[in-house]
Amino acid sequence: MKEDLLLRIIRLCRHLDETSQDVYLKFHRQFKEEPLHSFWLHMSIEESEHVKFWQRAEQIEELSCLPNFFDDAEQVIRELEHATLRTKELLRGCDKEFTVAEAFLIAYRLEFYLLHSTFNVLFQIFGPATDGLTPEDNYEAHIAVFITMLSSCGSVTPELELLGETLQRLWNENRKLALSATSDYLTGLLNRRGFFAVATQLACLAQRNGSSVGILMLDIDHFKAINDRYGHKAGDRVLREIAGLVKKSLRTSDLVCRFGGEEFIVFLPATTPTMTAEVAQRIRQAIESAIINGISLTISIGTAEGTVGSAPRDQLQNFIKHADAALYQAKNSGRNCVVDFAGGQTFSLRRNQETIASAGCAPAI
Ligand code: GH3
Ligand code: MG
Ligand code: MG
Repeated sequence: MKEDLLLRIIRLCRHLDETSQDVYLKFHRQFKEEPLHSFWLHMSIEESEHVKFWQRAEQIEELSCLPNFFDDAEQVIRELEHATLRTKELLRGCDKEFTVAEAFLIAYRLEFYLLHSTFNVLFQIFGPATDGLTPEDNYEAHIAVFITMLSSCGSVTPELELLGETLQRLWNENRKLALSATSDYLTGLLNRRGFFAVATQLACLAQRNGSSVGILMLDIDHFKAINDRYGHKAGDRVLREIAGLVKKSLRTSDLVCRFGGEEFIVFLPATTPTMTAEVAQRIRQAIESAIINGISLTISIGTAEGTVGSAPRDQLQNFIKHADAALYQAKNSGRNCVVDFAGGQTFSLRRNQETIASAGCAPAI
């Protein structure tokens, strides 16, 4: 994605949060009585945390190497610019003293602009690269506190109360919308778009740190037969359960994505050859020993790993290609096994912890 577009989007988001931070601080100074005095300070501090998140996001190097995760980045910019303009108009004459209802109305309008789905999309995408600074979870609490205070303030009109409810509904809807842009509806895992957006950043980080990254390509064995025998709905349930099992076998910092159909991809952001192999085996065994709604099944896994060179995005694609080739070998080697790509045309196959064979071509082993 074009770096300047993404940077502009991040800056517009930061600007909106900074404006809210300033306005809430002003309200804190004006309303001397509790609970409003502390409430507005609390709101301002929370906004300052969001500002920090954007500052961190701005500093993420190689923003330009990220894939384009907005359908229309220019449109996002136009909408955020519009929100910025409206905020400016809203704050014209902001030097005067406000009534409680006026202050809430302004805050409502600000919060409304902060609900732009872009915020949520970027929380998803930059979360893992900003040391868990992502305000996404806090944001829900932030809005809840706002609405509670709004409803508990005696001088607040029924219209404002209604606005509060609308705000909460909007947040929920926007969050769903943002999630659907980056995650898979059936399993809740990342979708391809979300995966590449986050994995590319983590690959860039690994390049700077000189750490190794790992890719696992997973494909359920004979899944078509499960559908044929138990029906598509049961197949869907199995996919959800498998997604959960894979996720449970990983660290929270690892990424897991439904790559398509009954195929998953895992990105290990900091790993070693032994660790990659162990993780793959752990997943394979977890699935082999699970009985999902009375159905037992197996999975084949191809892995690739290594350090990240000068073009992280291309390198990521290379790792995926190698892990995919290894997966192909796993399928040809009888399934329910892990095959590691070992460079060139070489693969090594494992059913349990020990390496069974290592050869130029896995089907023969
Ligand atoms: P292999 O061991 O070679 O991977 O065999 P397979 O049967 O798993 O592979 P194949 O590619 O022949 O079939 C994949 C099946 O996955 C076919 C398709 O209907 C099913 N599938 C893909 N997406 C979904 C989905 O969202 N829900 C359900 N229930 N099935 C799906
Ligand atoms: Mg399959
Ligand atoms: Mg498949």
